[in-house]
Amino acid sequence: MNLSDQLHRTAQVKAEKPAYYFMDKGTSYGELDASVTMFADQLHKLGISKGDHVALLIGNSPHFIIGMYAALRVGATVIPVNPIYTPDEIGFIMNNGDVKAIIALDLLVPLLEKMNPVLSTVEHMIICETGADQGGMDISQLSIYPKMKSFTQLVSSGDSQFSGPILDEEDVALILYTSGTTGKPKGAMLTHRNLYSNAKDVSDYLKINEDDRVVTTLPMFHVFCMTVALNAPLMSGGTLLIVPKFSPKEVFRLIKKYEATVFAGVPTMFNFLYQYPDVDPKELSSLRLCISGGSAMPVAILKAFEQKFNVFISEGYGLSEASPVTCFNPLDRPRKAGSIGTSIIHVENKVVDELGEEVPVGQVGELIVRGPNVMKGYYKLPEETTATLKDGWLYTGDLAKMDEEGYFFIVDRKKELIIVGGFNVYPREVEEVLFNHPDIIEAATIGVPDPNQGEVVHCFVVTKNADLSEDDIIAYCAEHLAKYKVPKQIEFLSELPKNTTGKILRRSLKPQLQK
Ligand code: AMP
Repeated sequence: MNLSDQLHRTAQVKAEKPAYYFMDKGTSYGELDASVTMFADQLHKLGISKGDHVALLIGNSPHFIIGMYAALRVGATVIPVNPIYTPDEIGFIMNNGDVKAIIALDLLVPLLEKMNPVLSTVEHMIICETGADQGGMDISQLSIYPKMKSFTQLVSSGDSQFSGPILDEEDVALILYTSGTTGKPKGAMLTHRNLYSNAKDVSDYLKINEDDRVVTTLPMFHVFCMTVALNAPLMSGGTLLIVPKFSPKEVFRLIKKYEATVFAGVPTMFNFLYQYPDVDPKELSSLRLCISGGSAMPVAILKAFEQKFNVFISEGYGLSEASPVTCFNPLDRPRKAGSIGTSIIHVENKVVDELGEEVPVGQVGELIVRGPNVMKGYYKLPEETTATLKDGWLYTGDLAKMDEEGYFFIVDRKKELIIVGGFNVYPREVEEVLFNHPDIIEAATIGVPDPNQGEVVHCFVVTKNADLSEDDIIAYCAEHLAKYKVPKQIEFLSELPKNTTGKILRRSLKPQLQK
């Protein structure tokens, strides 16, 4: 039960099959597995072995896949990191995560060089050449930094017969640093079993198979991409269509050229694709399935997208601590718009009250999860672990309800609940109304302190009609929402802040408000 051995097995039966296309160049499973083996051999020769930590600071590219699978093959634990993090963020993860080797893009060499004195545990920096045309550096200069090695040289000179140690499925395969709401990020430890089982269960549930060509445009360092758009298709013998950086134009081009069958994205990506003017909707006719996750998919966007492109969207839900998927809308039963679907195979979801007791159908409570996908704990944080994992259940911090057919609906983050004069307002229900307005492209809702009501609702919107006024929007909301849920103020922005996975960052709108 580990992904790297699984890749090796797939390569033995499908050696010639394309594992991925990157920049229009195809690479077969045989070639991918050979690169992984040779790179693993070189990692081993550098002294990286079972239990060591290897950080990946790489965007969407074959370097990421080879680096990750090779590190897993030598038994190391992989720590994927967003390559555009600040030096402080990178430094924290490298030190807190006891990283021994970094595999990074060449664009980061100047930064790594500067950070070198504070990266006390790092013994090796393996640099991936992106090519001069993308601002990459001349790799021959690397010899001046003793810690740095060339990815290309290592991958082409390893032993193709190398075989790594036997892996235990309970060994930690991945540490994912998730942005906590307060303080520093926490490292969720996922085992080989966690990663393997979630990729397998998602594949089975969404029927991902060897005929699938999956658009891999979500960031690979995020676990949604890693499991759904990378590990699951590779495990099933499918083909990845790697998009280095999300752009509607490139996504549409790849779908058309390679007759993609699956697209996975976050709601903002669906919104961008929907708004893109230069596309014939028929060009998406090869898609059998669109997968949405990462944040709530507004029902208005879901329906408009499906209608325009004549495709089916299955919304799912997950979190880093659950590798990540717990729910998806099923393919063989009705899809419910606005729902995250039913529990995937082998995973249990339950809605509970403050005491951990299951609440009746239709009632809101905290969503908790149990299954082979649930993390081992947070790295070096035993107290945080016990607060999150209780009696074998993972407490997600998300509020949800379940209907009588076992479909779950995420109501909102527990921490983002707004309380107006004692009444609960879930930002999402206000946003759903705003997204229904024909002139509103994006919307986010937060609570702001109010001397009378405790908090009141404040919305940020991006519109496509400059004449739309604050009063118009408030009046529109008043038609569709109870009085206490109607926003008191509307602020117009040219775009909303998002993280690199495309999630709208409601929290970072608060300082914007103070401005
Ligand atoms: P991360 O650990 O970065 O993957 O973030 C996980 C969080 O994303 C969850 O705890 C939810 O708050 C949110 N999330 C993921 N999928 C959905 C969804 N379909 N609807 C609403 N929120 C979601």
